[in-house]
Amino acid sequence: MSFSAVQEKFNELQRDYSVLQSWRLTRDHAKRRAGVCYPLKKRIAISHYHIQLNSLSVVIDTLVHEVAHALAFELHNETGHGPHWRRWVTRLGGEAKVTGNFSVPETHWVLVHKQSDSLVQLARRHRKNKRIKDFILKGRPDTRGQLFYVSSAQFLAWQSGELLLSEVELIQ
Ligand SMILES: [Zn+2]
Repeated sequence: MSFSAVQEKFNELQRDYSVLQSWRLTRDHAKRRAGVCYPLKKRIAISHYHIQLNSLSVVIDTLVHEVAHALAFELHNETGHGPHWRRWVTRLGGEAKVTGNFSVPETHWVLVHKQSDSLVQLARRHRKNKRIKDFILKGRPDTRGQLFYVSSAQFLAWQSGELLLSEVELIQ
């Protein structure tokens, strides 16, 4: 799948919504997220890896997510996943969800140490170990039962602020 198909869709949206005229679509090499919107720079970037690894419809979903941020910012001065953003996603034919169901070019699981209000990444793993409940950090018996697996997608969504810690599925 190529970037030009995404660019074409973006051009179409620019024709439909004149406030997007001054915006640019670019490609970056982010490995940890699919797309990003920079309101002050009026720029949207879609990851090259995301384009390579996913179908056109998934990538268009990502574009719609980011364009909705651009419109919510330009027309309502809203940032984040608020009511205007949600309304625009729906209007552009997308689904107002904040975690994409897409492939990331990384291992599937992140081994984390859960702290009271945060997750500390310890390692990346291709598969889960069933004995995780018995694991402890070296010299830290208090960490027994506090080590979990989180899917890469959820971990990235949490890191980027799109998912609250309470919404992250911690697996043992
Ligand atoms: Zn977003």
